[in-house]
Amino acid sequence: MSKESVLIIGAGPAGLTAGHLLSEKGFQVFIYESHPHLVGGLSKTVNFNGFSFDLGGHRFYTKAPEVAEYWHSILGDKFMKRSRLSRIYYNQTFFQYPLRLADVLKNLSWWRGFTFLTSYLKVKVFPIKEIVSFEDWVTANFGKGLYQAFFKSYTEKVWGRACHEISKDWAAQRINNLNISKIIIQFLKGIFGIKDKEVIKSLIDSFDYPEKGPGMLWETVKERIEDHGGQVFLGAEVTGIEQSDRKWTVTLANGTKGPKAEHIISTCPLKQLLENLTPSVSEKIKDELSLISYRDFLTVVLMFKKKESFPDNWIYIHDDRVKVARIQNYKNWSPHMVPSDDYTSYGLEFFCQKDDELWALSDEKLKELAIKEVKIIGLPFSDEELEAQVIRMPYAYPVYDHEHQKRSLLIREELKKYPNLHLIGRNGMHRYNNQDHSIKTAMLVVNNIIKGKEEYDPWKVNQDAIYLEEDKT
Ligand SMILES: Cc1cc2nc3c(=O)[nH]c(=O)nc-3n(C[C@H](O)[C@H](O)[C@H](O)COP(=O)(O)OP(=O)(O)OC[C@H]3O[C@@H](n4cnc5c(N)ncnc54)[C@H](O)[C@@H]3O)c2cc1C
Repeated sequence: MSKESVLIIGAGPAGLTAGHLLSEKGFQVFIYESHPHLVGGLSKTVNFNGFSFDLGGHRFYTKAPEVAEYWHSILGDKFMKRSRLSRIYYNQTFFQYPLRLADVLKNLSWWRGFTFLTSYLKVKVFPIKEIVSFEDWVTANFGKGLYQAFFKSYTEKVWGRACHEISKDWAAQRINNLNISKIIIQFLKGIFGIKDKEVIKSLIDSFDYPEKGPGMLWETVKERIEDHGGQVFLGAEVTGIEQSDRKWTVTLANGTKGPKAEHIISTCPLKQLLENLTPSVSEKIKDELSLISYRDFLTVVLMFKKKESFPDNWIYIHDDRVKVARIQNYKNWSPHMVPSDDYTSYGLEFFCQKDDELWALSDEKLKELAIKEVKIIGLPFSDEELEAQVIRMPYAYPVYDHEHQKRSLLIREELKKYPNLHLIGRNGMHRYNNQDHSIKTAMLVVNNIIKGKEEYDPWKVNQDAIYLEEDKT
């Protein structure tokens, strides 16, 4: 019996994993990707004049062994083990992350340390009654002082809104492994010279990274799909998704139609999917559409001739004098990301909205802004052989507002009316999924398609404790 056909929207980690696993099993796979020449989605790698860079560094770290096995089966020894250093720049000083009390006290004075402690004790004596927002969550766990110093400024840059408007879910995902009792115990053990295995483990945190960035993994997966007879169409933006007689098809921006298929897998932003579906979604869901939102992102990469750089893989910028939120130092991710050690490249990451002033700035103006901010912070820099590239990434972060869980349940209920429509990945599910979660959702849906029944629930990924994010951004 000939195998069924599957249409896949998007050639990011989720779409490519699904396409790869299905094509291996003999399914007819058609992948549509809007980018004109690169696969990998948010996890792509851009190459320019001997430099390579990610859009936001991408750590390969997972608690799901089958995911680690999958990506090692693709790249084998082309993965490197990297140790992590990512400090916080605050008050014109670099602080260790995860926070260390001795480091905080050394750099900020005992008096500031005392105010952090009293604000922590205050919230323990007078707890916040209902924890709704990011601000509530962090204050309840760390006190107002630490919240204002080390969480507020960066988080507000990331989301472009005040911390009291951001859901507590973001805090629970992003910083759940950090807590003040660990920080204090670690400090006291330090005073008494007691080694703390757990702390040491977290400080020498390491991760896997492909020699030339994540893009090399995803380019290889694309080749494997094609080897199995699957097709990956680039520059193919899907603008219509139609179902009739239990078959699916897509319409592309250029007006062409795809073949009819039994299944469709979507990794495109959930809002886009819901807007472009035929038959269309109910009026109730249409009312929700304007409330689904995203945070966009742009990276200004500065490449120059200078050996000396800063020691971190990336740094978090908690400094209101500058707009940049995070700076990557790509050669500390892999020495193969620069032409030679005589060169350095920084990725200055700005969080924005597609319709805001920052996004609208010309590439030249963004380059000037990036250089100005590198100089304000005082990072090693040179204008010798200086080049810049600006990469704009719409839909980088699905926004979690206070209603997002309720809305997600409503949408999932609605989508039951569309048999064989499968949502996977980050924007596909409007979940703050990392690569490993996105890959895992693809694996579960592939299993369901192969078995012909909904045996596994991809919505459970990144919900159970085992999937919870530790401290990746
Ligand atoms: C700044 C940043 C840093 C990150 N760091 C890490 C990290 O360190 N570790 C980690 O594991 N994860 C990290 N992630 C998360 C990771 O990038 C995502 O989890 C992963 O890329 C999601 O895969 P996906 O396939 O679901 O979606 P995407 O990567 O978004 O891919 C979706 C693809 O679909 C295409 N597409 C969208 N709409 C259409 C359409 N209508 N028609 C055709 N094609 C379409 C897009 O062009 C894109 O290529 C980071 C993300 C960001 C933004």
